[in-house]
Amino acid sequence: KKYLEECLERKRLYNEVIELKGNIRVFCRCRPLNQDEIANGSTSVVDFDSSQENELQIICSDSSKKQFKFDHVFRPESDQEAVFAQTSPIVTSVLDGYNVCIFAYGQTGTGKTFTMEGTPEHRGVNYRTLEELFRISKERSNIMNYELFVSMLEVYNEKIRDLLVENSNQPAKKLEIKQAAEGTQEVPGLVEARVYGTNEVWELLKSGSRIRSVGSTNANELSSRSHCLLRVTVKGENLVNGERTRSHLWLVDLAGSERVGRIEVEGERLKESQFINKSLSALGDVISALASKTAHIPYRNSKLTHMLQSSLGGDCKTLMFVQISPSAADLGETLCSLNFASRVRGIECGPVRKQA
Ligand code: ADP
Repeated sequence: KKYLEECLERKRLYNEVIELKGNIRVFCRCRPLNQDEIANGSTSVVDFDSSQENELQIICSDSSKKQFKFDHVFRPESDQEAVFAQTSPIVTSVLDGYNVCIFAYGQTGTGKTFTMEGTPEHRGVNYRTLEELFRISKERSNIMNYELFVSMLEVYNEKIRDLLVENSNQPAKKLEIKQAAEGTQEVPGLVEARVYGTNEVWELLKSGSRIRSVGSTNANELSSRSHCLLRVTVKGENLVNGERTRSHLWLVDLAGSERVGRIEVEGERLKESQFINKSLSALGDVISALASKTAHIPYRNSKLTHMLQSSLGGDCKTLMFVQISPSAADLGETLCSLNFASRVRGIECGPVRKQA
């Protein structure tokens, strides 16, 4: 009974927050200057000199400053723990029956994979989320029975590939989106692996990444040109009142957002970049339509948004990490990413202030 009361209270508080802030959040994360940039004498064009935790300023090439505000800004010294501390309440709400989508957006090399996957020493949001979901499930086990399933897929050139095929020597399966009877989207045939612990998940994610690179000559290059999606499905049964829930959490490492000049590329590479542009702008259009509460939400304009339709909008929660580089060499792309993120959040950029 106490647990049910707590659940109701949490929902009530959550709804109050939604009323105030909406259910779309944008976090900005700036990576540190890397060794090469330091060796080249690069300096940072990102200024965090304010006492605000949600603001940053970009020093433009004419020395003017452009200010941006987000729900939170992570500075180069912010570690994976600090990032997860802000992300945890959003991702773990999947246990309360909410559908959730987390995206990492930005130019290649800005830390999208670092934030989502991380490294064995600095594990990212994906692993920490699963760890937290297992921890909470155990804590609630006398009231709730949870079953967790993991799927992993890739969208490349508007084609969906399953990354959890059993035999990694086989080419990954191609999949299609089907409209399910109750208005939700399903991907029939997608492998859903039941998971019981974090070590198992880590192995599964590693094998998914291996399959992702099968058939490509340069795995890093390919991964920057495709979207990688990890889906966690939570089936919950309330042991007190018998209520059942089924919800999805999507953790998405998006393809690099850098613009590729038409003159530099042709053939396959041009086709790829057109597909990436199309799906990233479709995602931006969907989130900004949701943020501004537009009646028509253009989900059908890309495989990515179509597949995520039932986890975007309504009372679903959305979080976008906009990843940026501090380097002057990346200034143009950084401004593009920050403008994109401001647009999806429906926030105007701040005034440009002349430097003294
Ligand atoms: P992307 O996925 O956007 O292409 P990566 O995640 O591969 O970028 O990051 C590029 C490099 O920068 C990697 O070597 C990564 O470990 C490093 N890196 C990114 N973000 C950070 C950070 N916040 N702290 C330390 N190293 C980082």
